[in-house]
Amino acid sequence: MVIVMHANAAPEDIQAVVARIEELGLKPHLSTGSERTIIGAIGEGTVASQYMQHFIVLPGVDRVIPISRPYKLASREFSACDTQFKVGDVTLGSNQIVLIAGPCSVESRTQTLEVAHAIKEAGANMLRGGAYKPRSSPYSFQGLGQAGLEILADVRAETGLPIVTEVMAPEMVPLVASFADMLQIGARNMQNYPLLNAVGESQRPVLLKRGLSATIEELLMAAEYVLSHGNRQVALCERGIRTFETATRNTTDINAIPVLKAQSHLPIFLDPSHSTGNWQYVGAVARAGIAAGADGLIVEVHMHPERALSDGGQSLKPERFAEMVRQVRLIAEAVGRELTPVS
Ligand code: PEP
Ligand code: MN
Repeated sequence: MVIVMHANAAPEDIQAVVARIEELGLKPHLSTGSERTIIGAIGEGTVASQYMQHFIVLPGVDRVIPISRPYKLASREFSACDTQFKVGDVTLGSNQIVLIAGPCSVESRTQTLEVAHAIKEAGANMLRGGAYKPRSSPYSFQGLGQAGLEILADVRAETGLPIVTEVMAPEMVPLVASFADMLQIGARNMQNYPLLNAVGESQRPVLLKRGLSATIEELLMAAEYVLSHGNRQVALCERGIRTFETATRNTTDINAIPVLKAQSHLPIFLDPSHSTGNWQYVGAVARAGIAAGADGLIVEVHMHPERALSDGGQSLKPERFAEMVRQVRLIAEAVGRELTPVS
């Protein structure tokens, strides 16, 4: 359940609610907004809502809302305001759309630096690049590992772009978090609960990608693992799902964007590169995503896609990425938004 405090509730009132939540064996989760505080009371194995009456009568409490969904902190009921947080100097979840771009894999320092300069020039706000790659075949390039993280940190120092990179195992979280500004959970790991718990305990923002065959509700439950372990800085990413269609690598679930916006307060990204698997369709689907209300895009860009060690077929060349940005800017303006300026 969620306990909504009055705008003028005193700090002691809030403290008393928290104390009562703990007394009942539930876990309090505070969300301090600019106007009022709301407090989630979440029970493991208990239906927290059975205790609603205990709270309605407490001083400073405005109302108590039961949440019957299997996710609570991720739900719209928990926060009517959209969640915003910073990755480096870039704010996610605001009216300004965030563009993340870069290679699928970090392949070398020169490759990463060159593409980072190119995407920044074209209007990207953050750099992506995998150092640990979850490849479907064990014989495909698996990433440079720690050397790749060091390259990313170097390139951030040279370009000022914050970096997002994937972490694949719970024991790797401290290492990857020591280099990255944002931790990516890949589609294949969306339901790796020990990994979700580990990033939940980290202080780094998380980009959580939807699993290949995961429902929207399963994505939100995965986000709940991260949130309930203490990390509130989670952005969700639609990256295409498996369907019977084979003309594209995956099927972009555009519906997921307005559905997630309605059901959650977390920022929503679209990855048109993995959702189509073909560079020719990336621009069109990117525009559709922004029109549908996405808060950002994550796009694969490579100087020489034909030579890429992974996902070359879906990677844009920098000039095509620049064209995509020009068109996305027009769509953003048409829906009353703008692109985050490059600093
Ligand atoms: C990636 O971002 O390169 C990637 C592997 O994505 P996904 O986990 O969505 O397949
Ligand atoms: Mn990729």
